[in-house]
Amino acid sequence: NDPIHVVGGGLAGCEAAWQIAERGIPVVLHEMRPVRETAAHKSGDLAELVCSNSFRSDDAATNAVGVLHAEMRLAGSLIMRSADAHQVPAGGALAVDREGFAARVTTEIERHPLIDIRREEVSGLPPREWGATVIATGPLTAPALAEAIRAETGADALAFFDAIAPIVHFDTIDMGIAWFQSRYDKVGPGGNGEDYVNCPMNRDEYERFIAELLAGEKTTFKEWEHVPYFDGCLPIEVMAERGPETLRHGPMKPMGLTNRHKPDEKAYAIVQLRQDNALGTLYNMVGFQTKLKYAEQVRVFRTIPGLENAEFARLGGLHRNTYLDSPRLLDGSLRLRSRPDIRFAGQITGCEGYVESAAIGLLAGRFAAAEAMGEAAEPPPETTAMGAILRHITGGHLSVEEEGGKRSFQPMNVNFGLFPPIEAPRSEGKRMRGKEKTLAKRRALSARALADCGAWLGLPPVSALPAAAE
Ligand code: FAD
Repeated sequence: NDPIHVVGGGLAGCEAAWQIAERGIPVVLHEMRPVRETAAHKSGDLAELVCSNSFRSDDAATNAVGVLHAEMRLAGSLIMRSADAHQVPAGGALAVDREGFAARVTTEIERHPLIDIRREEVSGLPPREWGATVIATGPLTAPALAEAIRAETGADALAFFDAIAPIVHFDTIDMGIAWFQSRYDKVGPGGNGEDYVNCPMNRDEYERFIAELLAGEKTTFKEWEHVPYFDGCLPIEVMAERGPETLRHGPMKPMGLTNRHKPDEKAYAIVQLRQDNALGTLYNMVGFQTKLKYAEQVRVFRTIPGLENAEFARLGGLHRNTYLDSPRLLDGSLRLRSRPDIRFAGQITGCEGYVESAAIGLLAGRFAAAEAMGEAAEPPPETTAMGAILRHITGGHLSVEEEGGKRSFQPMNVNFGLFPPIEAPRSEGKRMRGKEKTLAKRRALSARALADCGAWLGLPPVSALPAAAE
């Protein structure tokens, strides 16, 4: 068999290389460190964790990333096995000894008889002579390769600056206070004049909100994150600093909207949320990119009428990032449409987080191996955590046209809002409410995901989850 080339020995690249080699196909893994550094990595180890040492919740019964852990364990993930072997106490989370973890992955990859590691920078698009290739060079892809990818995919296809607004689970918005309406009831393509969720504020509420925004604790940029603010995506607190009325004349303007619950009450300001995924389970807060600390965002944004109990699928932030406009550029098995010999994996595809990056590496590896063996690259069902995140990347998002020509695809962690909805089971024939209902729904989504993942992998039905620790 010809080898499959994997570029980047991070979380995604190592997992991809492992999955390919475990299927008996040789791999050449190109990693530029320690020959060439990135702005965040500190060692020459493969799979180095650049920041936190947490893989987040390990609860596979009620947490979406916990479900992703469990699915990856079922699929024989090297990253999960190494994390489990180097776990440190962290309550319900899976946190690891970062050096032990990275050393373990490095040793396993080095020892694999079918993996050849080359410590070199790949400074252009992989040549066609390489045949099947997986690019997993992450958010800090070296500039020469990033430039080559940009040239191949179109000038606006790689983002280097990421301003993100929080995303809310729709079913946690109080629609007794908020209402659906587009400004001036404007009907756009595919819309019906009711495309936005609107949360009204009176003068007191608005003034208190502005004071909280100004006082709230902000994150400070690391030195390498020197980025200019573009006027189109100023953080809301920076806008508020320009004057107390700025937001009321910007993203929070109340014009063209009438409170459906209290038509006689004129709102002083209005927060709008826009549908963020095709399923309609997630809504983003329009114009609310922010660098408030996460806990502050939750506290301050829950003062907005209608969002008192909001649960956030993702919080806002600003940081450098390199990622493709994947829904447009990649096919359902992560191949670049214009060069199907190249697959992408990891954070560069627009997933967010260590675990998600490794999961997309796992899928890219399995797809590449299946193709090399002349088999179909069967994607996991959308009901699984792996399938849900793959769908977010390659297809489940609103298209550029639907978004009025703007690029709306943004990196995201796995969360239950990406899963096709499920009816909450009844308790003794009765409808459940509130927290009990949310938990029951999550349990049902998790159970469905794990059963469907097992079937996809051809495993016998699982009655117990694979153990976390070795
Ligand atoms: P990486 O793990 O970055 O791996 C990419 C590899 O490719 C690197 O080893 C790099 O040296 C190599 N490479 C790059 N270009 C080339 C080239 N041209 N030739 C050869 N090799 C190349 N996620 C979390 O879950 N928790 C966090 O706390 C967290 N903190 C983050 C902090 C920062 C500063 C950044 C940038 C991201 C953070 N992330 C975090 C997001 C993300 O989960 C990680 O970046 C994750 O490591 C992505 O995995 P990856 O495999 O896609 O990329």
